[in-house]
Order: sequence, then C-alpha cells, then structure tokens
Amino acid sequence: MGKAIGSERLGDLYTGGKVKKRREWRGVEDTLYDYKCWLGIMGMLAKYLVRPHFLKGFLRYRWMLNYISVPAMIDKHTVGLRGNHLKIAHEEYDLVAEDVAKLLDTAFKADRYCGNDEELSKKIVVLDENEMFAIMNGFPTLKGISWETAAVYVAVLLQGDAVTGYLDAIQEMGLPGDVCPMPAAEAGTAVLDDFPLFGACAVQCNTTCDGSLLGNGIMARRYEKAGIPVFQIAAPLRHTEEGVQEYAAQEIRNAIKFIEDCTGEKWDWDYYFENTKRYNEENRLRYSWMEMSRTDYPQVIGANLALYAETTYMAIAGRVPDFVEADRRITKLAQESFERKEMLVPEYRHRAIIWGVQAQYYTDFLPWLQNCWGILPLVDMLSLVYWDQLSEDDPEQAIYDLGKLYQEMIMRNRTHGGWEVLLDDLWRFCEYYRADMVILWEHISCKALTGMHGLFEERAKEHGIKLVWVNHDLMDPRVIPKQNIRDDVNRYMRTVLMEEPIDPSLEVLDDDKLW
Ligand code: SF4
Repeated sequence: MGKAIGSERLGDLYTGGKVKKRREWRGVEDTLYDYKCWLGIMGMLAKYLVRPHFLKGFLRYRWMLNYISVPAMIDKHTVGLRGNHLKIAHEEYDLVAEDVAKLLDTAFKADRYCGNDEELSKKIVVLDENEMFAIMNGFPTLKGISWETAAVYVAVLLQGDAVTGYLDAIQEMGLPGDVCPMPAAEAGTAVLDDFPLFGACAVQCNTTCDGSLLGNGIMARRYEKAGIPVFQIAAPLRHTEEGVQEYAAQEIRNAIKFIEDCTGEKWDWDYYFENTKRYNEENRLRYSWMEMSRTDYPQVIGANLALYAETTYMAIAGRVPDFVEADRRITKLAQESFERKEMLVPEYRHRAIIWGVQAQYYTDFLPWLQNCWGILPLVDMLSLVYWDQLSEDDPEQAIYDLGKLYQEMIMRNRTHGGWEVLLDDLWRFCEYYRADMVILWEHISCKALTGMHGLFEERAKEHGIKLVWVNHDLMDPRVIPKQNIRDDVNRYMRTVLMEEPIDPSLEVLDDDKLW
C-alpha cells in the first residue's frame, strides 16, 4: 500500500459490504491528484444536474440512473495506475465524461418531453451510436447527436446490466434471444419510447451487420412516425476493393444533400478542412502511442487506448478542440514515461493483441489482465482502424475519404471486408507489436465472428501464438457473467501455461457488489 506500482493486493479493495472498501492509496501525491479529479467529476455532474431540462431528463429516462456511477467507472479504469499513467487516464476519462454530459445537456434541452427547445432541435441531426460522426464536419451550425450513445453504449459501460430491461422488452415482442444485444437493446429502448425525441432529421448507416441494420429499421419507423425524416447511408461491405469506392463516395454526396435539404444549411468546406486538420493530428498522435507499444515500454494501452480511441475517432472526428489539446498533453506524458522506462505493472509476462468485439459490460477486463496476470493488452481490434491521413484541401478527394471512413468504421472494418482483415491481419499485428499472445473476445451473438473459431485456432498454432478465448455476450452479463470471463483466462494461465498470478487477490471477485 504505497507509491510504488503493485504495492498492494488490489482485490482486497473489493472485500466488504460496499462497491469498494476504500479509495486506493497511491502515495501522497498520486492519491491527492486522483482525489482532486474525483471531486472535479462530482462537481461537473452537479453543475449539469441543476439545469431544469437536465433534471427533467434525469427523472424521466430510467437509463439515466446509471450515470450516478460515473466516478466509479473512472475508478475501475484507473486501478493500479501511478504517476503519468494515472494522469493520462484522467486526461481521457474526465474529458469523455464531460463530453457525454454536454451531449445529454443538448439532448434534454431539445427533447420534446424535457426542454422542448424547437429552434435547437431543428439544428440537430440524429446519428447512430455506431457511426462515424465525420459527416457533420462540414456543417458549422449543426450538431450531430446520438441518443443511443448515452442510453445504451455509455450506460452499459457505467453499469454492466444497464440494458437488460430493454433486451427483455424487445424479446417479449418476438425478437430471438440470440440477436446481438447492441442493436437489440437500441430497438428495445425505441419500442418503450424511452429516448429523447429531437432533431431535424436522422442519418443512419448500415453500420456493422444485419442485426444492426434491422435495429436501424425499427428506429427509423419510430423517427418517421414523429416526423423526423431518415436517410440510410449504405456503405459497401467489401471495403478493401477499389471498385466500390465510387459508390461509397456517392452515398456521402447523397447524405450531405439530404442534411442540406432537411435543415436548410449548406456544407462549408473551410469548416470541414479545419476539422480535418485536427482529426489528422489526433490520428497521428494516437498512432505515435501505438508505435510505443512495439517497444519494451508501452505507455497508452488497454482500455485507455480502446475507449478513448473509439470516442475521438468515431464521435469527435476533430470537431472539438479540447480533444486534440488533451491528445498533445497525453503524448507529452507518454513520451516522458517512455524515456524514463516506466512500467504500468511491476512485471510484464505476456504481450497481447486484443482481438474481436469487446464485452461492453466489462471494459475494465483489460486493466484486470495487466494487474492480475501481467498480460499487457497492447492494442485492440477496435483501435486498429483506418490510418491514412485525410485530404486537408481537396474537396473531391475529401468525399472519397469520407466514403472510406464510413466503410472502415470501428468494428465494421474487421467484421466485414473478407478474412484478410479479420484473420490474416491479426498475425501481421502480432509480429508488428511483438506479441506472444492473443486474447480473443468471442462475442457469442456476433454472427460475423463466431463462424471463424477453427480458422483462428489453426493459424495461432501455425504462428506459435498463445490463443486465449474469452466468451461474452456484449451487453448482457446475465448470459456470461464477468467472473466467467476472468475464469477463461485464469484456467488457461494455470492449466496450459502453469503460471501463478502476479496479484492472486484479483482472480475471483464478487461482482454482485460492483457496478
Ligand atoms: S458485435 Fe457483431 S453482431 Fe453486434 S453489432 Fe457488431 S458486428 Fe453486429
């Protein structure tokens, strides 16, 4: 219990009758810093909660109750960290928390059931949670808002079983229980009318799979009933092929025209390129963090890479200057730590690539891997996205860039496009990042991945890579609880590799008391 990493048994924090017995003691300086950040988050939440439309939204929507666990969510992703690594995590999570609070504030202000600000509502384009927001980069006076992000995606991140009620609701209406819980939960929220209603129009995308596509259909029906017209971007699935790029570009032109027609606003190239410059810088900086992970001293890894990359790459896309400023500070902190050869945990035993679709109800599984077993989650599939820099001055090329971004969204870029991007690329990344292990999330309801189980096993054997399967059901911890996920690793480490954990107190935890 002190300043040094690994100086206490972290599992002991979770014994007793509460979520956590006490705050983690990290030495005087780091404990005070962490506590100051905790107070900052509480203050930020209070600042928004006292706004009348926000309070109304908090009381109206049952998924809002999950937001009382925001400080606990940050705690579970910073566990065990010290010094610059702790600062990097707070730079990320605190900024994302504030961004989500702003999203909720705008949504409730415009919401017909809460603030009912009609002028604001006319300036909003409703987007999917799993869609690139870059389509808004050329509209300076409009806002792109996804209520699904707040009600489903973030809610599950905060509280593991946040959407089980919505899953039950849609299954009672006849949806089979083996549909992916993400589109199923969104559809459940829509049929219960438990979402804020606003917007001049909605732009959806055939995001990741048929489940997602059908979920969008249910949502579109609800929007259109409320007088909100919907456009669906049909981005090609064979995204690596040149022949589909013209089609993809035309879909972007059509979407822009649809937004212009619905809102009366015009696409502004100067604004687009201003955002793109920031977006390119964000991508370059993130890439520099991932390059550090090729060395013996990785600095920004695991959930700190995955969750932040999802936000900046997909939802922010250069539109919010605060994010690029945070990225510069994170880069500086990471470089300092890299030069000082600082480690995240006392012992590095395995270098892992995290592949497949993560359990949204257990994103802190990645810090658990490093704290319990010394397995470094270097990079994950969702962060390994389109890296080419977007044009900063050519409007014609920019349309093709946007088309490519929509085809190669997070998750979609691997779950579609052929086995080259899902199977072959994995072993190339193992070599590139010098990984000896793959942690393969097996999302049991993801039809896009489950059919390839045997192929992964064969290839892992060929490449001499240790392959550890971890089963989950994305947003439904009732089907596969968190301890089962941990046990998939515990069993492999003890029986196949005959290793002992570096922190045995973390092997078995009582999740009933945890968020
Ligand atoms: S996890 Fe799989 S099934 Fe679910 S939305 Fe993504 S691609 Fe579709």
